[in-house]
Amino acid sequence: MLLYNSLSRQKDVFTTVEPGKVKMYTCGPTVYHFAHIGNLRTYIMEDVLDKYLRFIGNDVLRIMNITDVGHLTSDGDTGDDKMLKGAKREHKTVMEIAKFYTDAFFADCKKLNIKTPEVVQPATGCIAEFIDAVQKLLEKGYAYEAGGNVYFDTSKLEQYYRFLDFKEEDLEVGVREGVEGDTNKRNKADFVLWFTKSKFDDQELKWESPWGLGYPGWHIECSCISMKYAGDTLDLHCGGIDNMFPHHTNEIAQSEALIGHEWCKHWFHVHHLNDETGKMSKSKGEFLTVSLLEEKGYDPLAYRFFCLQSHYRKSLVFSWDNMKNAQTAYNKLVAKIRTLLNEKDAVDEAKKAELLKAFTDAMDNDLNTALGVTVLYDILKADTTAATKLACIAELDKVLSLDLIGHAQAAADDADAQEIPAEVLALVEQRKEARKAKDFAKADALRDEIAALGWQIRETRQGTEITKA
Ligand code: AMP
Ligand code: ZN
Repeated sequence: MLLYNSLSRQKDVFTTVEPGKVKMYTCGPTVYHFAHIGNLRTYIMEDVLDKYLRFIGNDVLRIMNITDVGHLTSDGDTGDDKMLKGAKREHKTVMEIAKFYTDAFFADCKKLNIKTPEVVQPATGCIAEFIDAVQKLLEKGYAYEAGGNVYFDTSKLEQYYRFLDFKEEDLEVGVREGVEGDTNKRNKADFVLWFTKSKFDDQELKWESPWGLGYPGWHIECSCISMKYAGDTLDLHCGGIDNMFPHHTNEIAQSEALIGHEWCKHWFHVHHLNDETGKMSKSKGEFLTVSLLEEKGYDPLAYRFFCLQSHYRKSLVFSWDNMKNAQTAYNKLVAKIRTLLNEKDAVDEAKKAELLKAFTDAMDNDLNTALGVTVLYDILKADTTAATKLACIAELDKVLSLDLIGHAQAAADDADAQEIPAEVLALVEQRKEARKAKDFAKADALRDEIAALGWQIRETRQGTEITKA
């Protein structure tokens, strides 16, 4: 499979250290608020990648952290502590907020058919590992203590910027508008591994460490959690495009300083979902969540469909018009599949293989889900049996996870369930006559008879309404 690699800045043939086994790491959510549908675009595309790698025969070990400590609003070492901000907003403790939003995140994932990774590790559960790593970095000379904090010394590396051709002087790392630069840093790009002199007097979560009571920086968690479960190499590391810098750049710096060799060959970044006003963010007040989609009557899987219709390496604009179009297209697909359900014909294996090849050709070329989705339409149009089409759709849906056949089956069951038997219709007619003749005792007896058959009637202005009891 060809997959774009942010490190080499080209499509590379995806290979793993151990053939057929993929060790995949995903930067997990910061659980201080609900995930917005932009965050979830990233997790949907990573889920498709995970499932496609399995589809083509790999074993995948997927690891995800849950950020419940250390992430500041700047993604660097400045700004507010996100978890503390969430706790204050809701007058709860940090751990209460973390639990609530971790559960909310996985509930959203479930609605979007995003599979839970094999390993899900909250950062607060690995403090000993972080302290150990920081200690090793100090021993190896890659870190220094200053002003109570421990910093990574980026000048010790041959190459710090790995993803983009940054000009160092263009980067104002640690110096944001209205925020004083951190004078403890030896180099502008240095970053905090362990905070003790926190500017958050009310910091709730603090741990004893050789450098005093404090808490870990955000970046060290992903390096350590990855190594805890995957050892000292990874095959694939994923995140949203904003994670490239500083987060992933810092992850590589620390990890390779620790292990002394290349850590992860392949980096997968999903571009952003924007709304019509620009980048989607949680600090903008009301933001787009899965619950909001549902409140407006959309199926979360129609949102997944919307995401799959475009390539992960292009930014995508969300609007309610686009969402409506996606829901309409999704419904039409389901309706077409429904017409195939009752055909009792046989699978044409040769045709099935040909149609599936079109799908793998699309996905093998840098996970082209947009083209993968058009294969769905080609299958429906193909000159073959209904059983062949259904078998192909079932295969594609192992990766696309749109629950197409399930939705089609549910729609068919609903229609069946609403078909009123002739016997009930006859009783309803008799009841109408009885009411006309003002024989209410008979009308009531007929109502009971109808109820005994499992149907319920109600007089409305439009006439008699008959529903399943
Ligand atoms: P966070 O919860 O802020 O740590 O972010 C969780 C994931 O969502 C990270 O992988 C981010 O890179 C990604 N992300 C953040 N904003 C967006 C966006 N607008 N579109 C797509 N992915 C995003
Ligand atoms: Zn990370």
